Amino acid sequence: MKNTRKIALVGNPNSGKTSLFNKLTGLNQKVGNYPGVTVDKRVGSIALKNGNNCSIIDLPGTYSLSSSNSDEQVVQRILLNPKNADFPDMLVIVVDGTNLKRNLFFASQIIDLGLPCLLVVNMIDLVRKEGKQIDLNALSQYFDVPVYALSARGGEGLNELIKAFELDVVPSAKSMFSPAGLEEILQDVALSRPGTTDYFRFKVMNAVAQDTVSDEMGDLAQIIAKHGYNPLKEDIIEVGNRADQIHRDLSIFYKDTNTKNSVSQKLDKYTTHPFWGLLIFLSVFFILFQAIFTFASYPMDLINDGLYDVGTIISSWMPPGIWADFIQDGIFAGVGGVLVFVPQIMILFALIAILEDTGYLSRVAFMSDGLLKVFGMNGKSIVPLVGGFACAIPSVMAARAIESRRERLITIFIIPLMSCSARLPVYVFLVSFIVPDEYIGGVISVQGLFMLGLYLLGLIVGLIIGFLITRFSKKQEQGAFILELPNYKIPSFRNALTNALNKGKIFVLEAGKVILIASIILWVLSYFGPADEYAQIESHYTELLSQPNADDMQLEMDKRAELLEHSYLGKIGHAIEPIIAPLGYDWKIGIALVASFAAREVFVGTMSTIYSVETVEDVSGLDAIQFSYATAFSLLIFYVFALQCMSTIAIVKQETGGWKIPIVQFVVFTGIAYFAALLTFQLLG
Ligand code: GDP
Ligand code: MG
Repeated sequence: MKNTRKIALVGNPNSGKTSLFNKLTGLNQKVGNYPGVTVDKRVGSIALKNGNNCSIIDLPGTYSLSSSNSDEQVVQRILLNPKNADFPDMLVIVVDGTNLKRNLFFASQIIDLGLPCLLVVNMIDLVRKEGKQIDLNALSQYFDVPVYALSARGGEGLNELIKAFELDVVPSAKSMFSPAGLEEILQDVALSRPGTTDYFRFKVMNAVAQDTVSDEMGDLAQIIAKHGYNPLKEDIIEVGNRADQIHRDLSIFYKDTNTKNSVSQKLDKYTTHPFWGLLIFLSVFFILFQAIFTFASYPMDLINDGLYDVGTIISSWMPPGIWADFIQDGIFAGVGGVLVFVPQIMILFALIAILEDTGYLSRVAFMSDGLLKVFGMNGKSIVPLVGGFACAIPSVMAARAIESRRERLITIFIIPLMSCSARLPVYVFLVSFIVPDEYIGGVISVQGLFMLGLYLLGLIVGLIIGFLITRFSKKQEQGAFILELPNYKIPSFRNALTNALNKGKIFVLEAGKVILIASIILWVLSYFGPADEYAQIESHYTELLSQPNADDMQLEMDKRAELLEHSYLGKIGHAIEPIIAPLGYDWKIGIALVASFAAREVFVGTMSTIYSVETVEDVSGLDAIQFSYATAFSLLIFYVFALQCMSTIAIVKQETGGWKIPIVQFVVFTGIAYFAALLTFQLLG
């Protein structure tokens, strides 16, 4: 009988565990689920040259031993409980060699658990390409574990690693964990867990206290209660110390580490300077914005006009009627609603890639990190947040760069409160009702100042929400954000282009589906209404039009307005009137509110249809739409907060992997919008 040694692969997501697992087990593997959760469980086996057999389990990817999503819980359940059926005899820690700072943080946690383990530096091919050299000996000494270099994709180093599976491995004698202040409670835990390391006991205790693994290890609950132990606080301290230490010692792990060259050092004096740094930051992002607005507007117009023309041509080949209208206003308008964002997305990502390549983005993250931490985010949130003022969609996608899930989610959550460019036409339209077109001292536009106030309002409320989430949420998972300021270098434009194309493609394929379906639904609602009411309107206008000096144009517009009022969308507008009346809105605004869910900029267009004026930009249009001061103000406040954008909802769903966050977001922001608008109207009305 061959003895079967149980080996578990652990590491950060995308470090190459599954690639290694496939190389090791080949066809001898099967995929199932862990009990009670929908997390893939991959197990397989490998026959060693010495005749022994090893079973291999590919554990879910994790960033730390603290957080509580289901992937990470599975890992904690297995590694912290020797009675678990999957508890390994040996661990193979896979780290991505191109990202040691983040990967070694988790690796060091695993090593400190005191189980026999091997450290595998994967992606060694990419490390080489970057022109770096990792000092494997230094790594091995530092952590007191055997270290192997590997390219799981190419197979380089694989045989050496498999040979190591035949050897006996002893646990590391070193630990980064300092039990200072916790000696007594750890002593108590040791009674039921003899032979474990301090760090192992510490982690078991925290996992039990935070309810991650409680069912199997209830015995610790008493000890925790007895000592009045605060797992959150201790965990944060521990994680912070560990991250600091890895950060400090990072250079030890590289041979001839790329020390910063003198040019970079000189530049950093300015880019990270409290005053000049801020000035440079503002200028860079000002240019970024200008680029998004100006460069994107041409392709956006082209897409809009082009699709409109194509839609018109195609629908003109068809007999007039519902199908022609569907093609023109349903399908082509919907596709347009998707494609029109693509230029902004691509330009933003091309520019981000360039900024990142040059090394400047690390400096921005470095400078803003401390401030953003207060609001539950980190330095890497700055790009998504600032980008939110242009468009939430690419910005939500840009939040991928934030490693900590929690900080990423908070960032994604508040991005829609940054006033995006689609709000601008609505603001411009409504502000003209409220604020006179005057200039202070002949230069500063009063309307402009007011508009700035609206932008700030969204930003401030967003930060408050971030602060509240951080302050009152239960589990605090500190983002292991370890900063390294690389040398400045010339960006690769090819890289920028690839990045832009990829992001554009992801958006069109993923979010595009949801947007298209939603716009078709909105079209159907606005196109159809009860047949008898429609017939009546038709015959009424046929009669009017047949009169001798009828104003065809005006009648046609009046008819459209009346049809819209009687459409199902119109019915919804009427139905919600009681709800929105306290905000100062009638059913006409109700229709525009619902319609502008397709995209905010639709608001102005719908208003002009419903009031049957040519365009609301011309003065006669403004005269036709009579808002009271209080109503216009209340609407403005509503638009600052409301999540009136199904594209954002679609992209948040895609990026967070489910409907939960976009739904919470929609409900919360609509709620804030409602009450803020209510307050505004009641105070002013
Ligand atoms: P896991 O999340 O840890 O299971 O990581 P995967 O095995 O899925 O790998 C993530 C990505 O990295 C995949 O695209 C792999 O093809 C790639 N990858 C894994 N190992 C290597 C390697 O050694 N070199 C290179 N260049 N790519 C690798
Ligand atoms: Mg995997």
